Amino acid sequence: MSRFWSPIVHALEPYVPGEQPSVADLLKLNTNENPYGPSPRALAAIAAAAGDRLRLYPDPSASALREGIATGFGLRAEEVFVGNGSDEVLAHVFQALLNHERPLLFPDLSYAFYPTYCRLYGIRFEQVTLNERFEIEVEAYDRPCGAIILRNPNAPTGIALPLTALRRLLGAYPEQPVVIDEAYVDFGTESAAGLVRAYPNLLVVQTFSKSRSLAGLRVGFALGQRPLIQALERVKDSFNSYPLDRLAQAGALAAFEDRDWFERHRALVVASRQRLAGALAALGFEVLPSQANFLFARHPGHAGADLARALRERGVLVRHFARPRIADFLRITVGTDPECDRLLAVLRAVLD
Ligand code: PMP
Repeated sequence: MSRFWSPIVHALEPYVPGEQPSVADLLKLNTNENPYGPSPRALAAIAAAAGDRLRLYPDPSASALREGIATGFGLRAEEVFVGNGSDEVLAHVFQALLNHERPLLFPDLSYAFYPTYCRLYGIRFEQVTLNERFEIEVEAYDRPCGAIILRNPNAPTGIALPLTALRRLLGAYPEQPVVIDEAYVDFGTESAAGLVRAYPNLLVVQTFSKSRSLAGLRVGFALGQRPLIQALERVKDSFNSYPLDRLAQAGALAAFEDRDWFERHRALVVASRQRLAGALAALGFEVLPSQANFLFARHPGHAGADLARALRERGVLVRHFARPRIADFLRITVGTDPECDRLLAVLRAVLD
């Protein structure tokens, strides 16, 4: 607390990201990073961009990257917005599209950043309870609201909502912006990107951090019809004209165009997820059906906090949320098969 702070700073409740400790030989399964290094084509493009031209500002509208992404989704570049990680894209989304007189709705178990953005921008919000199987029920959103934001697949559960359910929601709320945060969509969920042309109220947000293994480059994007994208551009150009540097624009475009790397590595993660889910179930864990690059699991005989601590003491970091309904769950990022085996060996020792 400081008397030098603007009044709003006192009221903020900042988001706390997963740890990034620099401890040797730690197995990091806590922040849903990709266990495989990025596309070599992306790395080459970043190296090529690291030259004399860094003295010049980057393209403020990241035209080549937006063009590339648009082509991949069958959209126009004007229907794509890019930002410094999808967290920044989401920050602009909250300010530009989700601040209305009626409350913003999102699930009670969802991205902890959502309530943080709401406090930052003074947005009224209501959290809608997931059902007893930790699923989003579209019918529960049938109440007066200004906008809706959902993660699909949801996190920390990993459970996906089918497009048929999303269509029902989009149709029921034609006057409200509906934002689908698809950070983990490439690991097995059907994207709503194909619905953008049909629904003027739909905005889809994705990231290069997970399925393209570029969390360190900080690139995210949004897809939507022109009026929605225009709102984001207005906020962005009132905040930072150059959110994506030259390396990020070049690296992200090359990564996006390397379809082969993308397809091969997401398939590897999905295969390891199925394998890890089976092994955890064999150890007695209840594992929620995940379509993401992480699993959410609890053991009937052990408190989540105890398990997380025991794993940590043995060099394995997973994410634990000390929150009422989910305090006994661990959120475990899917690593390579050898990494998953190391986790399983430590878990066996702990459970014994
Ligand atoms: N959305 C969701 C649902 C996430 O889980 C994350 C990762 N914490 C993000 C967005 C942000 O990802 P990034 O800023 O790395 O694109």
